[in-house]
Amino acid sequence: MNFSEKLIGWFEKNKRDLPWRKTKNPYFIWVSEIILQQTRVEQGLPYYKRFIKKFPTIKDLATAREDDVMKQWQGLGYYSRARNMHCTAKEICKSYKGKFPEKFEEILSLKGIGKYTASAISSFAFNLPFPVVDGNVQRVFARIFGISDSSGFAVAEKKFYSLGHKLLDKTNPGTFNQAIMEFGAIHCTPLLPKCNHCVFSGDCFALKTNRVKEFPSKKIKVKPRTRFFYYLIIKAGDSTFIKKRKGNDIWIDLYEFPLIESAKALSKNEILHSAQWKNFFGNISVKIISISKYQKHILSHQLINGQFWEVEMPSGTKIKQALKTFQLVKFTNLNKFPVSRMIEKYMVENGEGFTKNNRGK
Ligand code: SF4
Repeated sequence: MNFSEKLIGWFEKNKRDLPWRKTKNPYFIWVSEIILQQTRVEQGLPYYKRFIKKFPTIKDLATAREDDVMKQWQGLGYYSRARNMHCTAKEICKSYKGKFPEKFEEILSLKGIGKYTASAISSFAFNLPFPVVDGNVQRVFARIFGISDSSGFAVAEKKFYSLGHKLLDKTNPGTFNQAIMEFGAIHCTPLLPKCNHCVFSGDCFALKTNRVKEFPSKKIKVKPRTRFFYYLIIKAGDSTFIKKRKGNDIWIDLYEFPLIESAKALSKNEILHSAQWKNFFGNISVKIISISKYQKHILSHQLINGQFWEVEMPSGTKIKQALKTFQLVKFTNLNKFPVSRMIEKYMVENGEGFTKNNRGK
């Protein structure tokens, strides 16, 4: 048996039952691939189902409000994925009359679609012979064929692609690609590969040389950046202030409360005397209703420590300019806005008290 026969034989016996495996609809495949780029299958599955139910066609996605798209993505992280999909759906409606393009180069030219995703869509939906090579596939190839990236990432990547092209089953590229991805995801895993019963145990370089743990070679870890976010939930009757986050940072296009940010932890006194506090409140005496414990939120290269301050301004207070850039939203409507997982968690955990504290009753 050759590589492809062994792999597909393994796949037919071991594959997981996943909805995007049962469709040839390129739009559904695209949605699933984008969701799974940075997300585990178990976490991504409910998002996938909700997303295609809410936006069943490319046109539905293209004509949706940006806030509705972001709301569906809430909690998944890497929000540029949702923004790019929204933008690309509009582009497909404009340039391809709403029909997903069928050529590899056309798919690759779309915003937010790289070589890996273009290969996945074109092979799964249109049976085109392009290999998928992601981190999982690279690990499998590296172990079986003994490829190290000591010569540099770009050189190793070229090797992986040319190997992928060589091994790909050209009559059945979609199944081959699904099989190699699944093999990397559930069998030849990073920490606990199932070498004891593996279809490649007789051929595998890493196993034969007892070097499984050495492949792929370790990447240098970057020390995460630590940030402290102090969110001000300002009670103004039955409403509070929120604003869409902009700029070149995390959580763009998600809504948040007025924020005091610092690179180090601040004491209560430091916050009350900070320039940012003055900017929001000037010399007004603000009543502090509650201060939460720190919530840790880990992103790929950042550690966010969030603290929520529920505060109240005296009635009739003249709103400072800095707060005028925010939207005043009723507490009961807050859950309609897309927010970060950190804010969502606070609102869910403190739901009753949060709403009760802030209804002004
Ligand atoms: S023998 Fe082990 S390392 Fe080699 S392909 Fe199989 S599971 Fe992966």
